[in-house]
Amino acid sequence: MKAITVEPLRPLSLRLSEEPEPAEQEGSVLVEAIAVGICGTDIEIVEGEYGWAAPGKKRLVLGHESLGRVLEPGPARALKAGDLVAGIVRRPDPVPCGNCAVGEWDMCRNGRYTERGIKELDGFMSERWRIEPEYTVRVDPSLGILGVLLEPMSVVTKAWEQVFSVGHRAFWEPRTVLVTGAGPVGLLAALLGQQHGLDVHVLDRVESGPKPKLVADLGATYHTSSVAKVALLPDVIIECTGVGEIIAASIRAVAPGGVVCLTGVGRSGKVPNIPTANVAAEVVLGNKVIVGSVNANKRHWYKAEAALTRADKSWLSRLLTRREHPNDIFGAFKLHREDIKVVMQFADV
Ligand SMILES: [Zn+2]
Repeated sequence: MKAITVEPLRPLSLRLSEEPEPAEQEGSVLVEAIAVGICGTDIEIVEGEYGWAAPGKKRLVLGHESLGRVLEPGPARALKAGDLVAGIVRRPDPVPCGNCAVGEWDMCRNGRYTERGIKELDGFMSERWRIEPEYTVRVDPSLGILGVLLEPMSVVTKAWEQVFSVGHRAFWEPRTVLVTGAGPVGLLAALLGQQHGLDVHVLDRVESGPKPKLVADLGATYHTSSVAKVALLPDVIIECTGVGEIIAASIRAVAPGGVVCLTGVGRSGKVPNIPTANVAAEVVLGNKVIVGSVNANKRHWYKAEAALTRADKSWLSRLLTRREHPNDIFGAFKLHREDIKVVMQFADV
């Protein structure tokens, strides 16, 4: 079968190659790939900056934002041939730490977790893949190709859960959320903000292309100025850019008692221009919380599937701005200015 692989940490090693069928020990559920989303992590792996092959292997099958169709459910009673499914990305560490032991592998404390398509486990960019039934999430058939958004939606679902669990440490009635960055994560975060009944604002630097209208069609407000100039006093800021200056401005701009949730990791390493003592003054005197959020566990995947199923399908479909065929791997991994979510499409839904 065909698979898209890289040699991790080696730039220019991306290729579409002929690989053996997935090994039975990878899971009893055999799945035909439909589509796999491409995100910043995949591009970092392709550029040779990140990623680990499985022990004893040189190459890694890419891809962690999966959508497929069950070919053989194996002994899993909850699945049948033809079901649309996505695969959970992370697996608990082997120790396991307390969090992994209770199924909170997204909160792993020793870093020895593994991740499909990223860290020591092959990903989903192959014509067929296998998975354990307990890591398989059924996708409502009404979603069709939009099920490929389940992985980023699971990440956003966890971020919102973090925001609410932190906010509820005191009396808290959030009304306004500012989302910084209108990429796929930011737009899905805005969608969940709308589903939570909040007044949603989204800040991005682009003034053209599909983003402004996507935000407006959610009933949200699009801004292109800066966090300081938006002047909203938001109760929640979901930060999706990873840019130091925007993070610093968010800490200043969030309302007293508010929550800044960081979901993006910057690559520039630039020091934000806010002295640490000022961070303390903002956070201490304003009862503010800065919380980081990464990955997702099974509960988030389940809730994400429900949230996607509730959402307006025509709005969701506008997030998929480009579909590429596996034969054009190089085109797929080059992002265009107006791309939101690019997917590698292996088969029709
Ligand atoms: Zn762990």
